[in-house]
Amino acid sequence: MSSSLRFEVVGEAFKKKAIEVPSPKERPSDFFAKYVFTRKKMQEYLPSDVFEKMCDVIDNGATLDLKTADIVADGMKRWAMGLGVTHCTHWFQPLTEGTAEKHDAFVEHDHQGGMIEVFSGKQLVQQEPDASSFPNGGIRSTFEARGYSAWDPASPVFVIGDTLMIPTIFIAYTGEALDYKAPLKKSLHALNKAATDVCHYFYPDVKKVITNLGWEQEYFLVDEGLYAARPDLLMTGRTLMGHDSAKSQQMDDHYFGSIPGRVAEFMKDLEIQALELGIPCKTRHNEAAPNQFELAPIYEEMNLAIDHNMLLMSLMTRIARKHGFRCLLHEKPFAGINGSGKHNNWSLATDTGILLHAPGKTPTDNLRFITFIVETLMAVHRHNGLLKASIMSATNAHRLGGYEAPPNIISSFLGQQLSDLLDHLENSTEEELTNVGGKHSIQLDIPQIPELLIDNTDRNRTSPFAFIGNRFEFRAVGAQANSAAAMIALNAAVAEALTNFKQRVDMLIANGTDKTKAILQVIREDIKTCKPIRFDGNGYSKEWQEEAERRGLDTERSCPLIFDRYLDERSVNMFEQTNVFKRYEIEARNEIKWETYTKKVQIEARIFGDMCMNHIIPVATRYQSTLIDNVHKIQAIFPTDVAQQLNEQNIDLIKRISEHTKFIAENTDRMIENRKVANRIDDIRERAIAYHDTVAPMIEDIRYHVDKLELIVDDEMWPLPKYRELLFIR
Ligand code: ADP
Ligand code: MG
Repeated sequence: MSSSLRFEVVGEAFKKKAIEVPSPKERPSDFFAKYVFTRKKMQEYLPSDVFEKMCDVIDNGATLDLKTADIVADGMKRWAMGLGVTHCTHWFQPLTEGTAEKHDAFVEHDHQGGMIEVFSGKQLVQQEPDASSFPNGGIRSTFEARGYSAWDPASPVFVIGDTLMIPTIFIAYTGEALDYKAPLKKSLHALNKAATDVCHYFYPDVKKVITNLGWEQEYFLVDEGLYAARPDLLMTGRTLMGHDSAKSQQMDDHYFGSIPGRVAEFMKDLEIQALELGIPCKTRHNEAAPNQFELAPIYEEMNLAIDHNMLLMSLMTRIARKHGFRCLLHEKPFAGINGSGKHNNWSLATDTGILLHAPGKTPTDNLRFITFIVETLMAVHRHNGLLKASIMSATNAHRLGGYEAPPNIISSFLGQQLSDLLDHLENSTEEELTNVGGKHSIQLDIPQIPELLIDNTDRNRTSPFAFIGNRFEFRAVGAQANSAAAMIALNAAVAEALTNFKQRVDMLIANGTDKTKAILQVIREDIKTCKPIRFDGNGYSKEWQEEAERRGLDTERSCPLIFDRYLDERSVNMFEQTNVFKRYEIEARNEIKWETYTKKVQIEARIFGDMCMNHIIPVATRYQSTLIDNVHKIQAIFPTDVAQQLNEQNIDLIKRISEHTKFIAENTDRMIENRKVANRIDDIRERAIAYHDTVAPMIEDIRYHVDKLELIVDDEMWPLPKYRELLFIR
């Protein structure tokens, strides 16, 4: 430990011994997807008829028979064993954070006293992880506590270490989803259907619509040694106490600054391993807060993009440790500086290569562009409360509403050009917009839309749902969340809006209205209806809070109450109509949300209470004793009046320490009492509300006094690494 550092900083050792990072002689294009059973490898390892069958399964959702699965499994096994693989696992996304896996070896008895390597189609397609301990919201009562995982052929299998990883959905025997992937796939299916139908107004040859996702993953790195000395970080992922560092992010010198050496090594290692697993990493940079960084890949089809994000988060966590760091994915690890989000760039594209949220060259393209923009806004407007619920969690709640994060109200930023265009459509008369030439030749007077909307590099970084030229960016999603939660709600809501749009247009056409006029008429109605969702101003202002309420947008701030939006009739109808969830699935999932919320706050309150009583108060008292000791000694050697004067400052400090410790001790007791009261509440929702209203705020109140003590107590005695150490040592 160097004298200026109070804790063992792992990084010091790392700086001395250069860590070994594989330095690839090959280019990324050579090792990209090295550990993925890609189409190219399928072609190599499978008979051609089976390969074609698999392409049909992947591209068109054809069903897979067990005989084919056996052959596929055998090809996979041969490929994987060539990489030294001995085990396989179904890899799924239960309703906890992260992913789950259960490994099985490839071995079986050969019935001659030896063993053989076996991997059957049955093992590939279906497994039964003992699922009773995953959250299920009471869907499976114990006597039928069985769930099974089923292969998702749309996401290729891959190899990590000695294990073949098989992406799967996870459902109860009775069919209910117990994970994120199953409903995500349903929402993508619904959106594909609805969007393809609408596309046919413009492009009759479109066969399917693909939903794209490009996520941007933010994270913090903290030195492993300092992390280990913070019980709060260790147990909750965030600091529950800690005074602002004298320097934090006010200089804006971290954002896009040069990447520090030890971090650069970590990033390089991470990127190589991610690329080998087929994750198309593209961008890396420092983020706004000190020790905060971002990684973004090239966007992909959403189902795969989400698997890749889940995989990346686990890679980050693992590889950070190899470099003597801990990777923090919590949305708000440090109070008073930026938190971490995961911007979700969302767009639709046809199989014929048209980006539906991007303007085009012809009047048809422009009408299509406006249709998809307006119907997306319709979805976001109608379900703004639900979308907020979809990104809400005990942890993300700390991030929203400050420091560049979106506020607690969902609205959409469109930029000047697009706003003007929608206003023009809304305010012009129908005659102004259309002039009928010969047969079928309605000329649309829509101002030319530039292909590149210049003002889209929008500077309003706080808008929760911003239009970015050819896509929308949903920025409220939390850094550690599974993006699927938000994307399921968004996809289903847009599917509903598009279906509804088509019904109304078809009705007009059936009554003799020209197609283009019918589309325009419905769009104009919808531009008016969804206008309240458009907002380009300061999302943090008090005026916006009031204005949003007037506009009828959801302004609820309490996390457990925001979850209620899932159970609104309009949400349940939407999920049932799009075939994404049944009502009782939503009910079960909400139980898990409330339960998880309660547990998180409960754990925080416990750790925080322990730290106050075992770390902070004893140390503050010890420091206070040294002050008292000093007071006595001064009294012993100076005349009373001189001593009094000299002791003034110490006595003031002694008093202040007493006041703070008294507050902390008394209120920690009260917090424990409040927890006991909350724990006695049977109703899971009511209990979460009690934790939100009576426990969570006490952590903040008490923290204020702890942070004040940090400023008073001798630095050498302070038992926790401070913000300046956590944020600036790298
Ligand atoms: P910024 O930080 O300015 O938002 P980044 O380059 O960090 O931009 O991230 C942009 C993300 O958006 C990337 O993941 C990129 O692949 C993705 N993206 C770009 N175009 C589209 C699109 N049409 N649909 C979905 N995602 C997209
Ligand atoms: Mg972005």
